[in-house]
Amino acid sequence: MAGSTHPSSGRSLVVAGAGIAALTLALALKRAHGPALAVAVCDPAPGAGRHRGRAYAVAAGGRRMLARLGLWEGLAGASAAITEMAISDSRLADPVRPVFLSFGADPERGAGEPLAHMVEAEPLAAALDAACAAAGVERVAQGVRRLRETGGGVAAELTDGSVRAASLVVAADGARSRLREAAGIGWVGRAYPQSGIVATVGHARPHHGRAVQHFLPSGPFAVLPLADGGALGHRSSIVWTERSADVPALLGGDGAEVLAEIERRFAPELGEIVLEDGPSAHPLTLGMARSFRGRRLALLGDAAHVIHPLAGQGLNLGLADAAALAEAVTGALRLGLDPGGADVLAAYERARRFDTLAMAAATDGLNRLFSNDALPLRLARDLGLGLVDRLPGLKRFFADEAAGMRGDRPRLLRGEPL
Ligand SMILES: Cc1cc2nc3c(=O)[nH]c(=O)nc-3n(C[C@H](O)[C@H](O)[C@H](O)COP(=O)(O)OP(=O)(O)OC[C@H]3O[C@@H](n4cnc5c(N)ncnc54)[C@H](O)[C@@H]3O)c2cc1C
Repeated sequence: MAGSTHPSSGRSLVVAGAGIAALTLALALKRAHGPALAVAVCDPAPGAGRHRGRAYAVAAGGRRMLARLGLWEGLAGASAAITEMAISDSRLADPVRPVFLSFGADPERGAGEPLAHMVEAEPLAAALDAACAAAGVERVAQGVRRLRETGGGVAAELTDGSVRAASLVVAADGARSRLREAAGIGWVGRAYPQSGIVATVGHARPHHGRAVQHFLPSGPFAVLPLADGGALGHRSSIVWTERSADVPALLGGDGAEVLAEIERRFAPELGEIVLEDGPSAHPLTLGMARSFRGRRLALLGDAAHVIHPLAGQGLNLGLADAAALAEAVTGALRLGLDPGGADVLAAYERARRFDTLAMAAATDGLNRLFSNDALPLRLARDLGLGLVDRLPGLKRFFADEAAGMRGDRPRLLRGEPL
């Protein structure tokens, strides 16, 4: 890698935003480089509490990275393996919902490694917070207001007026990234006419690790297994896509009415249900930054890309960003090069751009294909799904894609050290 050497006194990283992917990056880099790299994470709204009630499907690659960072074992009580995924295509009123496609754990992926795990966000964020503190990552309860290039680095001005010198700033400040806008990096995107409703549902019968995705005409309704617990002994997370215009009517009633709406869509085999947490509705968008980098600036997570949640891949893209950026920065530091150099950022963008575009296009295409009730499309997609189900090679391709195991993955996603 070509580039100018950077004075070791200036080797410091400022991460704007303390989301899960951002903290994973900070931890990986601090662990790998110790005192040779100062890492500060700035966020005006820190704390794991803001993740309350949220759970994410973490693909196999993300799980391997968390295991490599020593976090996975401690999350056993807060995660559930998805050992089977069943996909159906039906109308709300259909009495039965035939399964057109099902995925199981794949013995060839590594001792039957599950496709993904549902992980509760609050304990995951708390574990990351604790590990970052133990590793020496500095936490600053301030936002990053603006950046100014200095001789061999960048000055990050915080909301309290203080200034931090850095070799590289990571903008992990969410979909409406202030730093992305200030850097003049364009954003291509549009709002879906849909919202994602998330809730935790307690149920009387066990889920046995089975995730279900019903493609209903208004959008997919996913039932995703959580670790046992709650009032009825078993719990699942739902991600329920609806037309935004219909959300007030669906969620506006009292608790019993909302539960009845969920029951109409939920998996009847799980028995009696109760609402444990939520529901909360989130308007859905599709968006991608025109570039994932600026001068001494890397975009990470939703600041770089926002996709439809139907495949549960938004955070996984962020974790893959963290793995790729950690690898690019580590490569530079080991050669004594500037970690904020243009070539480092170009390597990061190369590693992430295609994957991200492919995932954005795939989730957008699936949403278009399924979120409607036109008969020719129903026939085409049901035939397509049935065909995939009968072809093991194609099924493996889709399963590997969903598990984040395809292509030339960064080392951390393979579970290897940096
Ligand atoms: C309904 C729904 C369901 C989903 N389900 C899944 C799933 O199952 N699996 C999955 O992988 N993904 C899922 N996602 C996607 C996932 O929620 C997001 O991709 C992920 O939370 C984005 O994390 P982030 O850290 O990039 O951004 P955010 O979580 O938005 O974090 C940004 C942080 O930056 C801070 N900040 C803002 N401005 C500044 C500033 N100027 N300086 C410093 N800090 C700042 C904020 O306080 C915040 O803490 C889902 C999304 C939705 C809407």
